[in-house]
Amino acid sequence: MTDVTRMTAAQVAGLISGGDASAVEVATAHLDRIAAVDERVHAFLHVDRDGALAAARAVDEKRAKGEELGPLAGVPVAVKDVIATRGIPTTAASKILEGWRPPYDATVVERLRAAGTVMLGKTNMDEFAMGSSTEYSAYGPTHNPWDLGRIPGGSGGGSAASLAAYEAPLAIGTDTGGSIRQPGAVTGTVGAKPTYGGTSRYGLIAFSSSLDTPGPCARTVEDAALLHAVIAGHDARDSTSIPQPVPDVVAAARLGATGDLAGVKLGLVKEFTGDGAEPGVLAAFRESVEALVKLGAEVVEVSCPHFEYALPAYYLIAPSEASSNLARFDGVRYGLRVGDDGNRSLEEVMSLTREAGFGPEVKRRIILGTFALSSGYYDAYYGQAQKVRTLITRDFTSAFTKADVLISPTTPFTAFPFGSRTSDPYQMYLADLYTIPTNLYGGPAISVPCGLSEGLPVGFQVMAPTMADDRMYRVAAALESAVGTFTPPELSLESLA
Ligand code: GLN
Repeated sequence: MTDVTRMTAAQVAGLISGGDASAVEVATAHLDRIAAVDERVHAFLHVDRDGALAAARAVDEKRAKGEELGPLAGVPVAVKDVIATRGIPTTAASKILEGWRPPYDATVVERLRAAGTVMLGKTNMDEFAMGSSTEYSAYGPTHNPWDLGRIPGGSGGGSAASLAAYEAPLAIGTDTGGSIRQPGAVTGTVGAKPTYGGTSRYGLIAFSSSLDTPGPCARTVEDAALLHAVIAGHDARDSTSIPQPVPDVVAAARLGATGDLAGVKLGLVKEFTGDGAEPGVLAAFRESVEALVKLGAEVVEVSCPHFEYALPAYYLIAPSEASSNLARFDGVRYGLRVGDDGNRSLEEVMSLTREAGFGPEVKRRIILGTFALSSGYYDAYYGQAQKVRTLITRDFTSAFTKADVLISPTTPFTAFPFGSRTSDPYQMYLADLYTIPTNLYGGPAISVPCGLSEGLPVGFQVMAPTMADDRMYRVAAALESAVGTFTPPELSLESLA
């Protein structure tokens, strides 16, 4: 039989429902692949071998009884470690949560289980999802399967790398400022940020609550859409969840795959398609735009003048919300506790615990956020950033009167070598220059591989209006049908095995 780890999720689901492979065989093949390569990739913080095999057996039993299987039954999935999984370690890649086993499942995990997917384990990330390289994980970085000396993006580098290394066909990420799309771009995989409120935040360890959005990661656009359909939809346990039906993203991806974009208007974002990006990124992007035009799309240039303020506004809003959300890690309720010798006060224990438990980037954000929210500075910083957020939303609204979707490269540069951006936080923040406006607006966006630059993958970003997630899948699938999918060089892959 062909190697199931190289197949798409849709193909694997077909094998299982058709009785050509058992879910246990599929899970075992992926667990074996993880055992063979993850020492070098380090995509996983925890592998749940027993749980995966038990879930796979349940699917096989259901099939044997002739019960109906969902579209992804038996398909393995890796879950970012910022998402609560009942009884399974969940650390958000922080020392402060080491050893914590949540007493409940996040809504997205509940839905994955109900759909019969098989959770392989929890993936590595930047601590509390703050970062763009996975170098801020307290448990060591993930390596990019395209070049093990380079970053896999972040914060969801583990989820993206698990796909590129064929350890999993599907993964879940979270996107607050780009953490699904940017890792997708630099690993040659697909990552989609759904509309904010389109997927539930219940059970997500909160970073910036007005921005956090869980979403699908996959190797093909259709697979991402299949996963999106499983996890999305209203959830009464999330107060910002949208009580509306999810657009049919799977049908949209299949329509796009036919390669017909007649009548579709693409808005080329002037501010993000100039000289700001590396030449190789721009070249791959421009060739892809030409490919889309050949499929019938029309390109119009749109201007979004406030996008240049998105990065500074984000780095006030996200740390402000984080400083409040992370107050719950006090050494009393979860995980780590330092210095509790019976003589120290609660404040002293709290302070020692937070000093030992949080890494440098998390501390930087807490300090920045606390400052931005402090009385006397609130209006100058946080209040001002919220106004910029409104202006960015207006830019989107006005651009969507001229175009169906907006397009840009996903990132200004390809995967960079370890250590090259850690000494200057601003250089790291720049990785999300093109992804952050979407989070401030709340709409959906997808990154799809569009070519290579000096042998490294380049991502193409498609942004759509709020609750029009289907539009971005159509365009992304059309681009994929024109340029194909991208596989790390055999040499690099085989040197892993
Ligand atoms: N890289 C951005 C940050 O550091 C985005 C992170 C994310 O989307 N979780 O905040």
